[in-house]
Amino acid sequence: MKPRILYTKPSITELETRYAADAAANGWGERCYEYLTRFEKGFAAHLGTKYAIATSSCTGALHLGMAGLGIGANDEVILADTNWIASAAPIVHLGATPVFVDILPDSWCLDPKHVERAITPRTRAILAVHLYGNLCDLDALLDIGKRHGLPVIEDAAEAIGSQHRGRRAGSIGAFGAFSFHGTKTLTTGEGGMFVTSDDTLFDRVLTLSNHGRSRGQVRQFWADAVGFKYKMSNLQAAMGCAQLERIEQLIARKRAILAGYRARLTSLPGVSLNPEPSHTVNGSWMPTAVFAPETGVTREQLQIAFAAENIDARVFFWPLSGLPMFEPKRQNQHAWDIPGRAINLPSYHDLTDDDLDRVAAVILRCV
Ligand SMILES: *Cc1c(COP(=O)(O)O)cnc(C)c1O
Repeated sequence: MKPRILYTKPSITELETRYAADAAANGWGERCYEYLTRFEKGFAAHLGTKYAIATSSCTGALHLGMAGLGIGANDEVILADTNWIASAAPIVHLGATPVFVDILPDSWCLDPKHVERAITPRTRAILAVHLYGNLCDLDALLDIGKRHGLPVIEDAAEAIGSQHRGRRAGSIGAFGAFSFHGTKTLTTGEGGMFVTSDDTLFDRVLTLSNHGRSRGQVRQFWADAVGFKYKMSNLQAAMGCAQLERIEQLIARKRAILAGYRARLTSLPGVSLNPEPSHTVNGSWMPTAVFAPETGVTREQLQIAFAAENIDARVFFWPLSGLPMFEPKRQNQHAWDIPGRAINLPSYHDLTDDDLDRVAAVILRCV
């Protein structure tokens, strides 16, 4: 059997292990927040936002941010049907309803025209998830948000390195949320980040993130509201600081891998990879191949072909409205149709050119 090609794997160097060991040995007492503060400041600087709050996950960052916006019972939040469950779960936890709309056939992100149609008097926000590194149509979504008085939230968990008209994904909407799960471009094992440039929202989220204890409160063990506990540890932040020093290199490698697939599959009609419109940069977190219906290629066929080559390729996200806890919305045509003829391709820092050849060869044989 050929050696296994994993689907993702972090890039950990001596720098990460050195910082983590230092935090474990010395990051206590008066130094217990050193790496955390440095990571938050560094990440905000990288993005160009005023504030960043490190969290235990992106799910937690989304939960905090939406609570900070006042989203609660009987409210609605509009998002794409094509998504990881983590984007929808915090909406449900707040007692609100996720409203799933169809995606665009080329970017696989939410379709602004369906977003506008889904707005009701109960709508409180639009959740723009930059799928697989592909940018949402932010020009249209921000315009809709402005006209209807709705905040646009960016779930940028998959969009480290992505840019829209020169601004980094996650820094553009009311707030952005990031994930540092082991599969993501920058990792702390588990972890996340809430970012914003809005003073009022930052203050609210900071209080919520601190078990409802406000910044100015001088009384010890005093809470002003019931908040949350989604903090990142200083140990994880130490790894984050090391990864952040290497961020341009981590992003560049992700982009080179997507470009490598593109070069190998360019002559193949009927297969599209992640798009990169000219006003955007695609951080290329997850190279994904979507096969045109006329190719007849199916998800199941792809899974069998990749498994036979000992390559860990993953399925395109199921439509969330197809999961048992939600109402099916089959009218979301692209979200229901595309997963049946698509596959995620392996992408990690140390993937070799030979690995790229092996993956591309499977696709070339399928079509
Ligand atoms: C990974 C991911 C999340 C969840 O991140 P966690 O850190 O695991 O909570 C949320 N949204 C998207 C789009 C993701 O890809």
